Amino acid sequence: MKEADTAMPRILVCFGTRPEAIKMFPVVHALREHGGMDVRVAVTAQHREILDQVLQVGGIVPDIDLDLMRPDQSLDELAARILTTFGKALDEWQPARVLVHGDTLTTMMVTLSSYFRKIPVGHVEAGLRSGNIYSPWPEEVNRKVAGAISDLHFAPTDGAAAALRAENVPQSAIHVTGNTVIDALFATRDKVADEPALASGLDMVAARFAGKRIIALTAHRRENFGQGMQDIAQAISDLATRNDVAVIFPVHPNPNVRPVMEAALGGRENIALIEPLDYPHFVRLMEMADLLLTDSGGVQEEGPSFGKPVLVMRDTTERPEGITAGTARLVGTDRALIVREATRLLDDRDAYNAMARAHNPYGDGKASRRIARAVAAAHGVGTPR
Ligand code: UDP
Repeated sequence: MKEADTAMPRILVCFGTRPEAIKMFPVVHALREHGGMDVRVAVTAQHREILDQVLQVGGIVPDIDLDLMRPDQSLDELAARILTTFGKALDEWQPARVLVHGDTLTTMMVTLSSYFRKIPVGHVEAGLRSGNIYSPWPEEVNRKVAGAISDLHFAPTDGAAAALRAENVPQSAIHVTGNTVIDALFATRDKVADEPALASGLDMVAARFAGKRIIALTAHRRENFGQGMQDIAQAISDLATRNDVAVIFPVHPNPNVRPVMEAALGGRENIALIEPLDYPHFVRLMEMADLLLTDSGGVQEEGPSFGKPVLVMRDTTERPEGITAGTARLVGTDRALIVREATRLLDDRDAYNAMARAHNPYGDGKASRRIARAVAAAHGVGTPR
């Protein structure tokens, strides 16, 4: 790591997975653009390849890379490894503040490690709650622990801020900023519009499926492993019996996902099982799609910005804004329900149009700048005019 600038407060931004990297790269750039702070990035690399895809596209070179991913590691192995190795990094660099994101195991363990050293933590995407500690699991508890310890809470929406207040977080510690995923999405969409070659890897599959209605699919949630994944695969298999439909599915590399999907869906003419896409390609896929079918958190936030109906393959969501606005619907992993709701959207124009309204309940693309200003202010750094 390059030498610290002793005159400026040191801010260490930490994350470990693809979605955190997507949502934190705009924050890192905003902090650096703000100035007056020595900003470094530490990654646990809880995901490896799919994290590296984002680092590259987001223009982030980590100062500390703990490289902790191991094949099919258990939650307690990973938690223990993050805690012991990350602590050493904190001791070495002694930041004035740590910034974490969301609800991963990295988020929780980095927050704990900072707490053990009395280093204040800022939590980006704070206040999301499903009210059920087993759905999403273990994310609901990961984010509650981060919320209990942080002294700066960057809530993406008013609803998230209200959830924090209900847990007695003082109003003065809460900043409603919007979700930084919209910053990442807008920046990447504009980049792809300027430079289509950034997402041209989808041209062949788009040509293969020309004239068909495209369903873009992602599935990776831990609580859907096992029967849930089987049911999702069967629902997709049912939907793909239609000639007018094609499914494009970047398959998560997790060993609880990939073999199930390959066994159930491999070799089908109108299903493309493809490698995970880098962010510009995934943004392009969302633009191309008629319908998004997902158990992801981030995709639920991104879909409404493109006016794409989102069927959420989960029983609960901590992102109710899309449901309330009518652009997202919970369908769980119920095979019949997934098929019924997708079929309704494919066959009923009015039902489709009612869900396909572009709106941005999750942010305006300026969340990262608000976060940078609040972090700077907390450390006595003025905002340049
Ligand atoms: N995403 C991506 N490539 C893919 C699938 C998803 O870049 O092949 C992006 C997607 O746009 C979203 C994020 O990854 O921003 C979601 O990540 P994931 O579904 O792994 O996690 P979650 O959002 O559920 O935490």
